[in-house]
This record gives sequence, structure tokens and C-alpha cells, in this order.
Amino acid sequence: MAPLPDNSPDPAYREKLGEAARVARSWDGPIVVLSHVDPDGDAVGSCLALSRALRALGKDVTVATAPPRYLRFLAREGELVDEVPALPEGTLLFVLDVADLPRVAGGPVEGAAFTVNIDHHGTNDRFGDIAVVQPGKAATALLVKELIEELGVSWTPQIATPCLTGIITDTGNFRFANTSREVLEAAGELLDHGVDYVWLTDRLQWRHPDYFRTLGRVMETVEFGLGGALVLARYTADMKPVSGAEEDDSDDFVGIIRYAEGVLVAALLKERGPDVKVSVRTRDGVSAQAICVELGGGGHVAAAGATIRGVDMDEARRRLVEAARRELERQGKLPVDA
Ligand code: 5GP
Ligand code: MN
Repeated sequence: MAPLPDNSPDPAYREKLGEAARVARSWDGPIVVLSHVDPDGDAVGSCLALSRALRALGKDVTVATAPPRYLRFLAREGELVDEVPALPEGTLLFVLDVADLPRVAGGPVEGAAFTVNIDHHGTNDRFGDIAVVQPGKAATALLVKELIEELGVSWTPQIATPCLTGIITDTGNFRFANTSREVLEAAGELLDHGVDYVWLTDRLQWRHPDYFRTLGRVMETVEFGLGGALVLARYTADMKPVSGAEEDDSDDFVGIIRYAEGVLVAALLKERGPDVKVSVRTRDGVSAQAICVELGGGGHVAAAGATIRGVDMDEARRRLVEAARRELERQGKLPVDA
């Protein structure tokens, strides 16, 4: 059984953040910044904001993450590497927005002289020499913003823009249940630091023309279950565009179907070779996290995911429906006709 997620606030959060800042400020050696597989706006934005702030302090920083097409505009040419094969001697490693070590992408986690884990997933297993994990925060970018302030780096539009990106994308453009006064105030402060907000939110929605055809195919598979409380859609291998848009650009498909009237659980099943990747979004306190932990994954209460290994789409669908049924039952929200 997976450990139960700990979504409670860490009372030592501020101290740990201060300690992480002290370690970074005094570090003379190389610094490597990594995030998770399938990096999203929070992963890429957090990596870029922190690495730019550390470079402003004169640090030698390598960032290894491979953003999907729609996020590549955030990085300058040559700013990111896909992968670091090995950590250089004496590396300070930052791991951002990653719940557990097997999900780290872009490089090894072994061999660091010191590891700082910065994240907002309750399912985080608190790895590293310092684990700054605050599940109440809407985005890792919010923790990164506070770390940058602890570092004493002056804000520039180049640091503030990716930082705001993480907040925008992890709150679904300030629409998810994690949107709060804290989020809106932090966003306002970042605007004050010179972010071109209208440009940024427009640019974040740009997609390759092929994306829209794929979206059409996936939307044709929409089906409802559990008395209308569940919506699901399938993204099968044959729907992938031959060229152009990549599967990664399908990040927001599940967010679209989540708006079907009456729905408490929305799920997208993506065929990935012998495995199926499930993305789940919920509302009204129904836990996507509980559903995905049951399927071997993790995430947040309102947004979570899992990769179910060695199953076909029908089997993945069956397991997902059963996990969703159990969670709706637990919450007393399973419709009587389900
Ligand atoms: P998405 O459905 O967009 O891939 O992910 C939603 C949220 O769940 C993100 O915060 C992501 O990091 C987390 N997540 C997605 N898949 C997994 C998984 O397989 N394991 C864990 N622990 N978290 C996941
Ligand atoms: Mn995040």
C-alpha cells in the first residue's frame, strides 16, 4: 500500500526555507536544478525562476528539463539542457515540484553533495537533506518566490515571468480551488516586478495547429459514468498527430471535460505504449489524490495522476471507474443511480 499522503502544513516551513537559502547563498560549487517527468508550467516555471535568481548571485547553475512545445517560449536558447548524465563533484541539487524520487527527470539524484527538495505535493516522500514541502501552497512557484526573496535577489521581469507562469498554470488560470488571497497577492506582486500579464496568458494558450484536430478526436470519446458524476475521455496512440503537436500538449484536455455539468470526477486516459497514463481532476472535496494513490500514483486533492503499467485502455478504464466509485462512496457523493 502507498503511504497515506500528508497534506498538513509544515510548521517549520519558514525555517527550512531560510536554511535552503543559506545553503544556496554560501555554495561555491556547481548547482543543478531538476524537476519531474512530463514537466508542466509549474515545473518549468519554478526551474527557470530559481535558476535565474541563482545566476544573478553569480552561481554556476545547470537546469535539466525538457518542456513540452507550448512552454518552450519561456526559456532562452541554450538555457536548458535535456539531461545531465552525472552530477558534477560537489553539486548542490535542487529538486522542484517532484513528489517522489522515481518521478525526477533530467538527471540522477545520486551523488549530490547536498539535496534540497522543494514541493507542494502532500504525497511528497520528504526526500533530501532539506525537504521544504508545503502542501497548502497552490504551486511550487510560490515556494520558489519565497525562496528568491530569502535569497535577497532583486526581481526582474525575467525571473518574475516564469514564477508567475507556475502560479497561473497550477491554479488553472486562477480558477481551481487552490486559488486564494495569497495566490492573487503573490501574482499581483509579480506583476509589479514587470511581468507582461496579457502577453503571458495569451502566449500560454498557443498550441500547434495539429493540437486542435487531436482535441477533436479525443472529445469524440467523451463518456459519462457513475450517474453523471464521472466524465472520461480516451487519448489512444492512433490519435497522436503524425507531426506537429506532441502528446505533452494534451495537458489541458482533462481540464476541458472537467467543466461538464454535474461532474465531480474527470479523467483522461492516455495510451503510452504498454502503459496507460491517467490524469484526474475533481471538485467539491472529492479527492483525485485518493483515486490516483489507489492506482499507484499521486498528486493533489483536486488534480492527480498515475501511470498504470502493463494494461490496455479498457482495463485502465475499469480500474479508474472502480477507484472513482470508491472515492465518491467515501465522500457520500455517489449518485443513487450510479
Ligand atoms: P497530470 O495529470 O497533469 O499529469 O498531474 C496532475 C498532478 O498529479 C501533478 O501535480 C503531478 O505532479 C501529479 N502526478 C501525475 N502523475 C503522477 C504519478 O504517477 N505519481 C505521482 N506521485 N504524482 C503524479
Ligand atoms: Mn506543481
